[in-house]
Amino acid sequence: MPDQLQELKTRLAQISDLRSAASLLSWDQETYMPPGSAQVRAEQLATLEGLAHQLFTSDEMGRLLEDLSGIVADLDPDSDDARLIRVTARDYTKARKLPPQLVTELARTTSAAAQVWATARREANFAMFAPHLEKIVDLLIQKAEALGYDDRLYDALLDEYEPEMTSAQVEAIFAELKAEIVPLLQAIVANLDAVDDAVLHREFDEKKQWELGLELLQLMGFDFERGRQDKSAHPFTTAFSPTDVRLTTRIDRHFLSQGLFGTLHEGGHALYDQGISLALDRTPLCEGASLGIHESQSRMWENLVGRSRAFWRFFFPRLQAAFPDQLADADAETLYRAVNKVKPSFIRVEADEVTYNLHIMLRFELENDILERRLKITEIPEAWRAKMEAYLGLVPPDDAQGALQDIHWAWGLMGYFPTYSLGNLVSAQLYEQARAELPDLEARIEVGDFVPLRDWLRERVHRHGRKFTPAELIERVTGRSLAAAPFVRYVQQKYGELYHL
Ligand code: ZN
Repeated sequence: MPDQLQELKTRLAQISDLRSAASLLSWDQETYMPPGSAQVRAEQLATLEGLAHQLFTSDEMGRLLEDLSGIVADLDPDSDDARLIRVTARDYTKARKLPPQLVTELARTTSAAAQVWATARREANFAMFAPHLEKIVDLLIQKAEALGYDDRLYDALLDEYEPEMTSAQVEAIFAELKAEIVPLLQAIVANLDAVDDAVLHREFDEKKQWELGLELLQLMGFDFERGRQDKSAHPFTTAFSPTDVRLTTRIDRHFLSQGLFGTLHEGGHALYDQGISLALDRTPLCEGASLGIHESQSRMWENLVGRSRAFWRFFFPRLQAAFPDQLADADAETLYRAVNKVKPSFIRVEADEVTYNLHIMLRFELENDILERRLKITEIPEAWRAKMEAYLGLVPPDDAQGALQDIHWAWGLMGYFPTYSLGNLVSAQLYEQARAELPDLEARIEVGDFVPLRDWLRERVHRHGRKFTPAELIERVTGRSLAAAPFVRYVQQKYGELYHL
C-alpha cells in the first residue's frame, strides 16, 4: 500500500474517532444525561465536531487526496481502497465548497429556530415561526448555490442525504406512485370500517412489552455483545462502529404498536449498522449508503416483515402468552388486520403504509416551490391545507397539525423528507428480490426464523456500507433501477385483500 494511502487511513480513523465520541455524547444526551448538563454538553459536542471538521477540510487532506487520485486508476474500481479514495474525495470537495461563515450562520439560525418552532407548534402559531423559516430558506439557497447543481437548487440539498439522486428522478417516481395510491386510498376510505384496531389500545404492561421487544431483536439476529437497547423520548439508532450499535425505543402502555413497531424499525437500522464489514470501520465508508437505503432496512423489518400474516402466525401465540387477559378474544388474524388499519390522518409520523408517502409528496412539492421562490413563506399553511385536502381528503384544523408538525425545517433540513419514501420503495423492491432468492422466506418467518433474511441482507446490502451509491446498490442487488412498481404491487395486493376491494 502506498504511504499516502496509509496516511489517509490514519487521518480518517482519527476523524472517525472524534465523530464517534461526539455520537456517544449525543446518545447519552438522549438517554441518561442529567438535564442540568445540557449547556455544557452542547459546548462539548461543538468542540468535537469542530475538530473533526477542521481535520477533514485541511489542506493536507486535500494534498493527500490529490496524490492518491493518480493511483485510483490502477486499483480494482470496486475494491475497498478505490471506493474509499473516491468517496472521501467527493466528501472533501463538498465540504470545502461551503464557506465556514455560512455553516456557522446556519448552525446559529437553526438552533434559535428550533426553540421558536417548539413554542409556535404548541401555540399553533405559524406567523411566529415564519421569520425564522424565511432566514433558514435564504441560507439554504446560499448553501445550494455554494455546493452547485446542474438542474435545480433542490438537487444540491437532496444530494446531502441521497447521493447522486436528482429531484427530477424523485418527481418521476412520486408521480407514478401518486397515480396508483390516490385511487387505492379512495377505495379504502369507502370501506374504512372493514378493519378494526381497538385491540391494540388495551392495557399492556410496559415491562412485558420491553421483554418481548428484546426477544424479537434477538430473533432478528441483533448481537447484544455489540450493541444495546435503551429508552428515549424519540426512538433512534446510532452506531460508533459495527461493534457498538445503540438503538432506543419508547413504550406506550395503551398502544401496542408504539413499542413493537418502533423496536422492529430501529432494529432494522441497527442490523444494517452491525452488518457493515469491519474492514470499513473508522472510515467514511462505515455508514449506510444513504438515508433512503438506511430507511429501507428499518421499513422492511417494521412493515414487510412485522406487518405480514406470516409474522403474526408466529408472534401472536407469544404475545397472547404475555397478555392472556387482554388477548383472550383475539387470534393471529385479528392482530394482523389491526396492525394494518388504514386511516388518513393529519400527522405524518402516525401514518399507515398506504397514506404515508402522500405526506412526503406534499412536503417534497412544497419544498421545491419554497426554494424556487414560487411560494412565499407566509403562504405555506394555505398551500399545505390545499394539498392535504387533495391527497388525503382532510383539512387540518390548525397549523400545529399542519405545516408546523415536523421539526425538520427548523433544523435546516430541506431535501431530507423524500428519503423516507425512497426507503419505503426500496424496502419493497429489495424484499421482492429476497423472496425470489429465498423461496421459503415466509415459511421461515412463520416459525420465527429471521436469520435467513438477516443473512441475505448482510451479504447483499449491509456489508458494503457506503461503498456503492444508492443507485449502484439497488442495481447490484435487484438487477434493476429504483422503481415504484414493487411497492405499488405490494400495497395493492395486501390492502386490496384486507379491504375487500
Ligand atoms: Zn428510520
